[in-house]
Amino acid sequence: MREHEEDVVRLDPQFGGLDEYTPNIARMYDYFLGGSTNFAADRAAAEQLLRVFPGNTEWAHINRAFLGRGVRACAEAGIEQFLDLGSGIPTKGNVHEIAQQVNPAARVAYVDIEPIAVSHARHLLDGNPNVTMTQADVREPDTVLAAPGVSGLLDFTRPVAVLAVAVLDIIDTSDPATLVTAYRDACPGGSALVLSHSAALDASTDEVEGAQQVFESTTTPTLHARDWSEILAMFDGYELLEPGLVPSAQWRPVEPVSEEYAARSNGYGAVGMLN
Ligand code: SAM
Repeated sequence: MREHEEDVVRLDPQFGGLDEYTPNIARMYDYFLGGSTNFAADRAAAEQLLRVFPGNTEWAHINRAFLGRGVRACAEAGIEQFLDLGSGIPTKGNVHEIAQQVNPAARVAYVDIEPIAVSHARHLLDGNPNVTMTQADVREPDTVLAAPGVSGLLDFTRPVAVLAVAVLDIIDTSDPATLVTAYRDACPGGSALVLSHSAALDASTDEVEGAQQVFESTTTPTLHARDWSEILAMFDGYELLEPGLVPSAQWRPVEPVSEEYAARSNGYGAVGMLN
């Protein structure tokens, strides 16, 4: 991890420097997915989270797999541009890899606030003209949309798939649906929204509250678990592709999944299209 600090120094100072002592969700998520881009504080918080909610590792894998299937569906539908909000630390099954398997000319603008996620992505993407990494706060859509890495790469007169996967549940906003609308309004017909969001499916009230307490010690101190109708409201203006808003594991699974396994998604996912 030390070798990245030099890059972090060159990141946008408004988002703070590298703080390896405060647990960070991007790095905890990386830990749950089996990555090594995390510090001792992240691993300790992740282990604490697993003690109160043992299903979290499975949640992370199910969520990541949903992201991949959603991106592939958009690429196969002919969408060539992707705006990934809260993209995370590069790991297996990155959006540009999946999209470019379908269409080598696909363009992906990644956006994340976390210095390590930004630094790692920039290393990985160095020299790839069709992919950018922007450090920004997704709660500021005007800034995100005007950022050179976004406005310079994506043509908003042509369809764009906006990805808001496992991010709206950890950002501090009381009105995530309005935030999604700001991005929707920047996109033309034929665009898409790929969204997943935490919901207590098989997680008990104690597990949710325990997880929320662990989040209090992280850089994103609030975890919002919302219900189906609150999450559906985020798709305002979009027509949902089949099978609609379902537990993430049940969204076009590669193989049929049991109800019991679907409940372990502890979140819903869907893909919506703009007419
Ligand atoms: N979207 C990826 C996925 O589902 O595989 C990563 C999800 S990870 C749980 C959430 C990501 O959102 C982290 O990388 C975190 O840094 C980022 N994030 C949190 N708050 C953010 C904000 N206000 N602006 C931009 N990114 C944010």
